[in-house]
Amino acid sequence: MKSNNKGVSTNYSVKIGDIPAPGELKGLMALNRKVLKKTVQHLAKINPRDLDTIIHSLHEEAFSFYDCLKCANCCRSISPAISHNDVEQLAKKLKVKPSDLVVKYLHLDEEGDFVFQSAPCPFIDEENYCSVYSHRPKACREYPHTDRSRFYQLLNLSLKNAEICPVVYAILMKFQK
Ligand code: SF4
Ligand code: SF4
Repeated sequence: MKSNNKGVSTNYSVKIGDIPAPGELKGLMALNRKVLKKTVQHLAKINPRDLDTIIHSLHEEAFSFYDCLKCANCCRSISPAISHNDVEQLAKKLKVKPSDLVVKYLHLDEEGDFVFQSAPCPFIDEENYCSVYSHRPKACREYPHTDRSRFYQLLNLSLKNAEICPVVYAILMKFQK
């Protein structure tokens, strides 16, 4: 255990512990939303480099054993933002014209980003495998963003992602306030 210059403890030896079942997340968030909001405010006070070190370590640990195929909440409930490069890649994989892919699968959201027209994602199968895995959008590769640098910039996004992703929920709950 050590403290940074703002007096906020930064425990590098923290372990991920239990990760809730995907089906439990809704109820847990209903109980703990306020706690997690405070937690995020607390994490915002930690030195950014220390925060990255701690969060990345928890990310590595969690995804060394957690099987996303038993969850797939992200693919089933939210759409990634899809860039023009993603459109090209998906079209290549599906052997269709990019314009046809856009018409068939995408629409523009209120922020002007292409997203899938519906959830679950049209490319997830019954066993939670992604049929376009090798060509999946960049945002799918990066989700849930807990290994990204400058994690302090993603704290509010992570609060939202804790509603969807059991790993994000478990990581944030390690620092509950
Ligand atoms: S493209 Fe693949 S990884 Fe991305 S949301 Fe769809 S099923 Fe999930
Ligand atoms: S990234 Fe999170 S929400 Fe997506 S499948 Fe893995 S544990 Fe579930």
